[in-house]
Amino acid sequence: MKVFKKIVDLQNELFLVRKEGKEIGLVPTMGALHEGHASLIKRSVKENGATVVSVFLNPTQFNDKGDLGRYPRTLEADCKLCEACGAQYVFAPSVEEMYPTPDTRHFEFPPQSTVMEGAKRPGHFNGVCQVVSRLFYIVKPNRAYFGEKDWQQIAVVKRLVNYIGYDRLVHIVECPIVRDEDGLAKSSRNTLLTPEERAIAPNIYKALKASVDYAKDHTVAETHDKVVADINAIDGLDVEYFEIVDGNTLLDVNNWNDSGYVVGCITVYCGHTPIRLIDHVKYKDPETK
Ligand code: AMP
Repeated sequence: MKVFKKIVDLQNELFLVRKEGKEIGLVPTMGALHEGHASLIKRSVKENGATVVSVFLNPTQFNDKGDLGRYPRTLEADCKLCEACGAQYVFAPSVEEMYPTPDTRHFEFPPQSTVMEGAKRPGHFNGVCQVVSRLFYIVKPNRAYFGEKDWQQIAVVKRLVNYIGYDRLVHIVECPIVRDEDGLAKSSRNTLLTPEERAIAPNIYKALKASVDYAKDHTVAETHDKVVADINAIDGLDVEYFEIVDGNTLLDVNNWNDSGYVVGCITVYCGHTPIRLIDHVKYKDPETK
């Protein structure tokens, strides 16, 4: 496996890869890789002749600089994981390499980029679009792999590729969320939890999962309130928002019959720091119907 820090070196290599007729899979990450990322990398390795994992802690998508400062940085271990998963290339540029001049482009794709995470983290999806578009221009992948863990991000990235005219060039591959055995969604930020916080965090998915049954004979509003109450009842957990939305538009759903694709999206503050955890649950999924 080769590790590149410079765009020109990666591009020279990928020129040869394409000349051999190989397709290229890109897995964009911010590092501190875990089994969630590994599932994306392994899938890309299976589906492409060459896989590039980008490891870049993108400052432009952090509206909270404290969050950026705390974010775990583990490049050496990340490279080992990529190699073990069969990736051929890691692209780990510096901030200066990715942004030789400040990125002044502004992306907004309402409603997908303006609701929920878009509303609570101003500028977050703009930064995501800046870095993902640059990665697409640099790597020109046939496929790019994104996790349903960041469920809203996928909806925004799909709008982005359509906007920049890449929808025919790059296929966005959506990969299922990977959880720990107790249900907590795997996340790089989980390593920042104290043992006490880690012990209460699984209550988030527990409440979401239980609400799927509850929803069968309760209204959207009742289901919403039950999830929020169940989670807030746990000392150390504090729901920032829980929204039950249409899976495509991401707009609020008022009745279960309003849509054939209904998802509940949640953000919870855990502990004293506090660490911000996101999760979601599908109430109606056209894929499984
Ligand atoms: P990040 O490094 O957090 O930006 O994540 C990079 C990619 O890995 C994103 O597409 C995430 O959605 C995906 N990812 C992160 N955690 C998980 C998980 N637990 N299951 C599946 N995909 C994940």
